[in-house]
Amino acid sequence: MTTTVALAGSTGSIGTQTIEVVAAEPGRYEITALGATGRNLDQLAEQVEAVRPKVVAIADESRVAAARERLPGVEIRSGTDGLASLGAEADVCVNGVVGFAGLRVTLATLLAGKRLALANKESLIAGGPVVQRARRTPGAELVPVDSEHGALHQCLRSRDETGPSRVAALVLTASGGPFRGRSAADLAEVTIDDALAHPTWSMGPKITVDSSTLMNKGLEVIEAHELFGTPAGEHGVGIGFDEIDVVVHPQSVVHSMVTYTDGSTIAQLSMPTMCLPIGYALAWPDRSAAPFGAIDWATLSRLDFEPPDLGAFPCLGLAYAAGRAGGVAPAWLNAANEEAVGAFLDGHIAWADIAAICATVLDHHEAGVPADVDDVIDADRMARLAARSVMGLASPAAGPA
Ligand code: MG
Repeated sequence: MTTTVALAGSTGSIGTQTIEVVAAEPGRYEITALGATGRNLDQLAEQVEAVRPKVVAIADESRVAAARERLPGVEIRSGTDGLASLGAEADVCVNGVVGFAGLRVTLATLLAGKRLALANKESLIAGGPVVQRARRTPGAELVPVDSEHGALHQCLRSRDETGPSRVAALVLTASGGPFRGRSAADLAEVTIDDALAHPTWSMGPKITVDSSTLMNKGLEVIEAHELFGTPAGEHGVGIGFDEIDVVVHPQSVVHSMVTYTDGSTIAQLSMPTMCLPIGYALAWPDRSAAPFGAIDWATLSRLDFEPPDLGAFPCLGLAYAAGRAGGVAPAWLNAANEEAVGAFLDGHIAWADIAAICATVLDHHEAGVPADVDDVIDADRMARLAARSVMGLASPAAGPA
């Protein structure tokens, strides 16, 4: 039976790799809907030609007229609502939208009782409590596309879900990014090009900068807690922030690990490619037949591990603090970070300022637990205003597209 796939964020890095994964197993999947900002209509038109979707959503309303002209004969939906509507369109929705704008796609997919293949970690981090409720919709399931969380999902398969929790720790690996081993003083003068030169992963600019600050790993700690956290039970241990560890592993071959109470550690290994976690999320509970990222053991010579440097990379500690604070704190941190990274990429602030701005905004965040998506959007908006005010930039912010 063919699995239908809706792909939100089709022209981004996850989107193009999803199309590659689907093409690798002809007949297994059918992409029935594509969603994109509409800012790259040439690329989108090529995808429509190749994939022949029934529906295309254009998130940026100012690009809709041009899209209709460029893509005759295809149903075009517009704006944030149009993009979110893709969630109910197919058996699986791959959410590869960049940043906070992915939240509505996440919620729409889960509330439609569909499978969400989630690459948009920001929606889980910012909207945690709201997304948790949506996950309880009958039929809804969430399979992470983030490589670390895809790895944890695989490593946790060896647990006995009917017995007490015997998970002692989730161990997230971090490549360390382009600045691994550098001191804080060393990092004062780094440039945009330096930050975008990731040693092992090829990704979009926002996440590549997040990887250079270790904010990406910090957000992934919160993501892991949202996905796999459990309260301490009568038997066995729970999984809280104390049970989520980060280890730097520069080769990016071990994607994450789970340590059990008997001392065993189960790891997932493969060469760094997002095609593997995308294929895993599409095929789950089966597996992909295409061997993306298979290791050549004749050439893999070593695997190194070292602790992260929390002094030179304060963003990791900020994320633990926001995660422990809970409620809207992760939403504030995520929004402040998106604004700071945008300002860094625009040349307005230095790399080291990203952490400083996030720390200031998080210090002054208005605590609370979001009751619904509007509360999350409010927290996001207030944090963006605060971040832009700290940076001396004009408000309102560009906001989610
Ligand atoms: Mg990751």
